[in-house]
Amino acid sequence: MMDSLTPTSKPSQNFPQIDRVRHELKRRELTVEALDYVTPLMLRITLRGEALSDFTSLGADDHIKVVVPGADGEMEMRDYTPRSYDNAAGRLVLDFAVHEAGPATKWALEAKIGSTITIAGPRGSAVISGVSNWVLVGDETALPAMGRRIEEAKAGDRITAIGVVTDKGEEQEFASTASLRMNWVHRPASAITDPAPIIAALDGIELTADTFVWVAAEASVARAIKTYLTATRNHPLPWIKAAGYWTRGMADTAMKIVD
Ligand SMILES: Cc1cc2nc3c(=O)[nH]c(=O)nc-3n(C[C@H](O)[C@H](O)[C@H](O)COP(=O)(O)OP(=O)(O)OC[C@H]3O[C@@H](n4cnc5c(N)ncnc54)[C@H](O)[C@@H]3O)c2cc1C
Repeated sequence: MMDSLTPTSKPSQNFPQIDRVRHELKRRELTVEALDYVTPLMLRITLRGEALSDFTSLGADDHIKVVVPGADGEMEMRDYTPRSYDNAAGRLVLDFAVHEAGPATKWALEAKIGSTITIAGPRGSAVISGVSNWVLVGDETALPAMGRRIEEAKAGDRITAIGVVTDKGEEQEFASTASLRMNWVHRPASAITDPAPIIAALDGIELTADTFVWVAAEASVARAIKTYLTATRNHPLPWIKAAGYWTRGMADTAMKIVD
């Protein structure tokens, strides 16, 4: 979980500054206000509720839990990134990657304007500062966090991003004041756990010692990329955050920072 990240709140030449901020854990009942397909396999759901007036998410890769009915009627929880939010308007936007539907994906696909959902969290935020060079690597489930990081980056920041999707129709556009190099890797859904095309794309990317490399993907893919970064590229560990956002063949795999 987040706490297994290299802990430092002291800026230093050798470590990025990562501040962990805890939030009061709240549950909020929200109503679907709008449904839009960003791409054919990315469903954006805008939620509305007065309870969002004090919603706080300080980190681009924060997550909330959505509470949805499971197959046996029991409620289940899954992790989603607050893609954007507006306290005054009481709005929260979530992007759902459409795939082999578990309960969260099923809920999203069946949602209609006026449907209700409970969300919990975020429990905390890991705020990374003092970083101007970023490499972001992620599959469909990581695109909400990548999009947020790119959109929230400062002018003068340099970001190289690799988005991994099935085809051109799944590519998204992100606005940024930073200098952004957006790369897309296409792989069929059948090759969703193959890290090779991502590693090939990373091979051509310069990694200075002060580049923060953020990775989120299927757990075995994230692990393979982390191994490549440390073993082949010799990139320093404190400058890597690699997380499994889901695990092939396993339901409900909450975030794991991969070894
Ligand atoms: C910190 C964090 C933030 C996340 N943010 C987002 C987000 O903003 N948007 C988003 O779409 N997802 C996000 N995810 C991933 C999401 O939580 C998982 O994909 C989750 O498993 C979906 O729940 P489910 O109920 O649909 O499927 P589950 O019941 O969990 O799984 C059912 C089956 O679907 C498979 N599966 C799960 N995800 C995928 C996938 N992407 N592609 C193919 N098969 C899959 C599982 O392996 C399992 O076999 C995030 C995960 C983490 C840890």
